[in-house]
Amino acid sequence: MSTARLYDNHGRRINYLRLAVTDRCNLRCFYCMPETGITYLPKKELLTFEEIERLIRIMATMGITKVRLTGGEPFVRTDLLKLIGRITEVPGINDVHLTTNGVLTAPHIPELKALGIASVNLSLDTLDKERFKLITRRDEFNSVWRTYEQLLHYNIPVKLNAVVMEDKNIDDIIPMVELTRKQPVSVRFIEEMPFNGEGMHYAQLTWTHKRIVEHLKQHYPLLQKIADPDHATAYHYQVPGYAGNIGVIAAFTRTFCGTCNRIRLTAQGTLKTCLYDDGVLNIRDLMRNEANDDTLKQHLLKAFNHRPKDGFEAEQHRSKHQPVTESMATIGG
Ligand code: SAM
Ligand code: SF4
Repeated sequence: MSTARLYDNHGRRINYLRLAVTDRCNLRCFYCMPETGITYLPKKELLTFEEIERLIRIMATMGITKVRLTGGEPFVRTDLLKLIGRITEVPGINDVHLTTNGVLTAPHIPELKALGIASVNLSLDTLDKERFKLITRRDEFNSVWRTYEQLLHYNIPVKLNAVVMEDKNIDDIIPMVELTRKQPVSVRFIEEMPFNGEGMHYAQLTWTHKRIVEHLKQHYPLLQKIADPDHATAYHYQVPGYAGNIGVIAAFTRTFCGTCNRIRLTAQGTLKTCLYDDGVLNIRDLMRNEANDDTLKQHLLKAFNHRPKDGFEAEQHRSKHQPVTESMATIGG
């Protein structure tokens, strides 16, 4: 087991890898992808399972201890569970997490449990079937709800991720908080970011984290601020006496960069040291050009030593100096 600890040029520990296993998806969420006209990567451009495992083994020796699989929709990738099994075996990787839209997930939950998945983040922006259809442009609410029930049934720690959107799901905020009354779930409300393949949907973001908290406090005057775990991106709250809790994520306002411990790998093997950069290293091509493990490590360390201090600096350093517009599905949310 590695005891390596990895730090960036701002003294922040890096121990968390978010890996997009595909850019493909079976939903078309309004905030993530345009309805039509998406070009997916050719399959040969995706990292293979062997490449993914090799990279994770290398990163684990450098200090990565936690991996989250995301996408696109991870379950659209064939044999996802085999990949999860391989990653859980990597020495030094203590916990493997998954973010999923839940459309195809329910039947796999017993196996996820058996593989020791540490937690699942399930994306669900509304409890209303019709609104679900409008937001995701697919009629899949029932399968997602089934996934939610199964996750609870198998005692897999679950967080529900809801992107808060003007005119779309504001009426869902309180009903979603009510899920935390009896269920040990964390419901997280996320500021909408312009990662949708089109660009900013609004002249200005109206549902900021502050407004979301004000809205919560209007309904729950006794709402309590509770402790945030280390490196958390969410501000945590709880309604007194409720079983679960609430997270509010300032994803667009970017208040959490000072403790950011995460790096990302896109499905085609581009390293991102910040969500808002446009890729700082093509690791896939280095591997395919037969770089050995030491060379890969040197390239990774160099990238970690040039990390922007926050998402605003990362955005300024984008290669074409364009604001972010790419789909979250190509990045891995
Ligand atoms: N398909 C899976 C899912 O939806 O859970 C995993 C990938 S998705 C890109 C990961 C997370 O990013 C989801 O929780 C989604 O809500 C969030 N996300 C996507 N686009 C976003 C945006 N424009 N602003 C804020 N969050 C976004
Ligand atoms: Fe697909 Fe997830 Fe993006 Fe929705 S948020 S379109 S489910 S990748």
